Amino acid sequence: MTMQQLFFWGSAVLKEAGVPEPELDARYLLLHVWSISFASFLASRNAPLPDNQEAAEKRKQYETLISKRAGRIPLQYLTGTQEFMGLEFLVNEHVLVPRQDTETLVELVLAEQKDREKALLDVCTGSGCIAISLAFLGGYRAVTALDISAEALRVAAQNAQKLLTGHGGTFSLLESNMFEGIEKRERFDIIVSNPPYIPTAVIGGLEPEVRDFEPRLALDGREDGLEFYRILAEQGREFLVPGGYIYMEIGCEQAEDVTTLFRGQGYESLKTVKDMAGLDRVVRAVWPGQEMEKREEGENDV
Ligand code: GLN
Repeated sequence: MTMQQLFFWGSAVLKEAGVPEPELDARYLLLHVWSISFASFLASRNAPLPDNQEAAEKRKQYETLISKRAGRIPLQYLTGTQEFMGLEFLVNEHVLVPRQDTETLVELVLAEQKDREKALLDVCTGSGCIAISLAFLGGYRAVTALDISAEALRVAAQNAQKLLTGHGGTFSLLESNMFEGIEKRERFDIIVSNPPYIPTAVIGGLEPEVRDFEPRLALDGREDGLEFYRILAEQGREFLVPGGYIYMEIGCEQAEDVTTLFRGQGYESLKTVKDMAGLDRVVRAVWPGQEMEKREEGENDV
């Protein structure tokens, strides 16, 4: 038995199961089990595998992973990692697998926010991929990341430990349903969020990997998919400094609705940015702050 034979067998099983990229996934699982690079696979794939217990165990492990992947468990939950912004994030079934689309949001923030003294809040952090890559690549003074899920926060904490140890600036995690757990006095220069945004009725029609295995909590944006943008628009203002920025990932058909929602709450300088596929993916808004100042003046008058 050679690795090449195992690779062909795995690819065929995955193809039969309707997995979208069977060869690629069979290869990733093989490299994962043997802890080797693609280059060493190419060099050794036709050599017979040793006839020992270690090789037999690895083969069994590979076969188990192929059968799980054939059951449409996402590849990244099997390997336990996903690359995002050039960094390797740990993932499990409690967090959404970081998507390349989401790099559009991180790149926009990095391009527009050069001042490292900024304080940043990530709402619905999941694996922490947005907050941690911004802390790592942007070097912001203070980054806070929150999530409603304690299990997701455990993953984010592991990622922070892995990627931010010895890094300057503070990084804090907070278990919170949207803004509920944030001190009323806290203000941020930048809010970022990739909230759940899929309309509930649409979830049933998604790929089995997403529909059956990724956390529903991270996907379901309620009936019209916009519930969490409403909360971000209404409550985000309370936690932004005047002139503060909010950046959100959106579903590709939500740009107009989200823009209208934020304009309606007094935000300005609305901008939509497309992802690499040319689809609307990020909405940015600026909170001018007048309304809040007016309210504060009103309070002083009393
Ligand atoms: N982009 C994800 C998907 O297409 C959804 C992410 C989200 O709801 N925030 O499955």
